[in-house]
Amino acid sequence: MVVSAGPAALVSRAAVLERFETPIRMRSVEVPEPRPGAVVTEVLCAGICGTDIHLQDGRLPIPIPVVLGHEAVGTVAALGEGVDSDALGRPLGIGDRVMWASSIACGTCYYCRQIGEPTLCANRSVFGINRRADQFPRLSGAWADFQYLDPGTTIIRLPDDVSTEAAISLGCAGPTSVHGVVGIARPRVGDTVVVQGSGPVGLAAAMYARLSGVERIVMVGGPAARLELARTLGVADAYIDIFEVKEPAERLVSVLRDTQEGRGGDVVIEATGVPSAVAEGLEMCRPAGTYLVLGQYTDHGATPINP
Ligand SMILES: [Zn+2]
Ligand SMILES: [Zn+2]
Repeated sequence: MVVSAGPAALVSRAAVLERFETPIRMRSVEVPEPRPGAVVTEVLCAGICGTDIHLQDGRLPIPIPVVLGHEAVGTVAALGEGVDSDALGRPLGIGDRVMWASSIACGTCYYCRQIGEPTLCANRSVFGINRRADQFPRLSGAWADFQYLDPGTTIIRLPDDVSTEAAISLGCAGPTSVHGVVGIARPRVGDTVVVQGSGPVGLAAAMYARLSGVERIVMVGGPAARLELARTLGVADAYIDIFEVKEPAERLVSVLRDTQEGRGGDVVIEATGVPSAVAEGLEMCRPAGTYLVLGQYTDHGATPINP
């Protein structure tokens, strides 16, 4: 719902995290005009990521208040001076359906420039996570009617044949998995990949592993409804339900049995957000294999590892 009280006072609702471990508050925020290079979008839909729950619980030292929401699809509501194309150089106009990257890296720090890891950027600005809702432009998260995209935001116009629902399903899980699976773990043709977790990131990780040409994917996850969805999508070849096979030692036996000659996964991908899964997953990996920690973003405490 948009409340308009004249051309200079477009007001947006915004879901604001004002204090940790308290309910999100609905606030009214004036929508600013885009400055040169910026874009204002009207949010069509925004995702609730596991990280949002962890942020509300105060498991990451972020500045508050913050308008949450770091994955969204929207339409272009206003373009700042100088913006006429998306990140791929395609024309961009009012009303176009778009998605945007959740963060803007500085491009000049050690991680950006020397090792090419913008997700580790020391000065990274992340929508819906480390942007204060009490400073301009205030609407820096997607849980709002409108979101302000600062200059430098990677904006992509969506193809007409991609539905809004399909796009948002990979809003955060998609880029996370492309970066982790395709960019870092790089499973090879013929590999066996074990995916721990069957949430959005686990499903997406399995899909991108499949696209990488791997031979076999073993998914260790739950609850049953999620594994059922995974089966329907056909993202893996074998499924182990952690609520059925409750003991880690038992799960390990099942996983190893499902890998080539019982060696373990060539690549094991953690997508659970549960610290103890890391210790368990390392055992599922073959010697000299690759273990990718993809699901641990916020602080859920330490876990013992037997090296
Ligand atoms: Zn997320
Ligand atoms: Zn940087």
